Amino acid sequence: MRKLNFEVLTLFPGLIEGPLNESILKRGREKGLLNVTVRNIRDYTGDKHRTADDSPYGGGAGMVLKPEPIFRAFEALKAEHPGEELLSILLSPQGRIFDQKRAEGLSGEKRRIVLLCGHYEAIDERVIGSLIDEELSIGDYVLTGGEIAALVVIDAAARLLPGVLGDEESAYRDSFGEGLLDHPHYTRPAEFRGMRVPDVLLGGNHAEIEKWRRREALRATLIKRPDLLETADLMDEDRKILEELKREIRNPNI
Ligand code: SAM
Repeated sequence: MRKLNFEVLTLFPGLIEGPLNESILKRGREKGLLNVTVRNIRDYTGDKHRTADDSPYGGGAGMVLKPEPIFRAFEALKAEHPGEELLSILLSPQGRIFDQKRAEGLSGEKRRIVLLCGHYEAIDERVIGSLIDEELSIGDYVLTGGEIAALVVIDAAARLLPGVLGDEESAYRDSFGEGLLDHPHYTRPAEFRGMRVPDVLLGGNHAEIEKWRRREALRATLIKRPDLLETADLMDEDRKILEELKREIRNPNI
């Protein structure tokens, strides 16, 4: 049974725990497929005030996370899992942008994955230089802390793990699964306020439904994210459909 082991290091465990105890992530944890240990960095401080941050050398605004508690937290988790390899990731706006490919890579990761969440202005650079294998960003904007980004990484990787989603196949039909966006979906009723579900979906001809879905996935990608088409895994038939769709879009009366 494939499973994922995450260790989240944070100053605010409460920001992480709620979402892990709901819905699909909760079920994944209950099934033993997803293990997440949340460690409070403050538990690894050495003074009575549990000081985890300090003002920056050289002056300036904001606080910097101190190296000692973070080094100690890493040492403690290594001691608890002797001989186990770690992959340590810092959530950071300076990291490589996290995408579906990286989520797929992480979903197959055998190492224990440490997610270090920064907060305030910065983390002491010696932590990054000595303890971190990889920096991941969830987008070109700045969050107050790495916790929400860590949840994004856990959620995207965990749902690709076999058994976490009820219907395993659905992960591969989702957007980005084959380099394209997902096709549109409909459910009952077949007609709602004058809007009808496309006939092909009501007909029960599975080959025709598959053809329609592929075409509509290509259409959605062409309209919303044409950049994805440059790297998508396209067959000759897809390229023909794309040419037709481009003509259709230029001339909607075709
Ligand atoms: N001074 C830092 C900089 O400009 O690179 C930003 C620090 S930010 C206010 C605090 C923490 O939030 C970061 O250490 C990081 O862990 C997290 N964070 C902020 N934006 C992020 C993003 N786009 N992706 C991942 N983590 C992010």
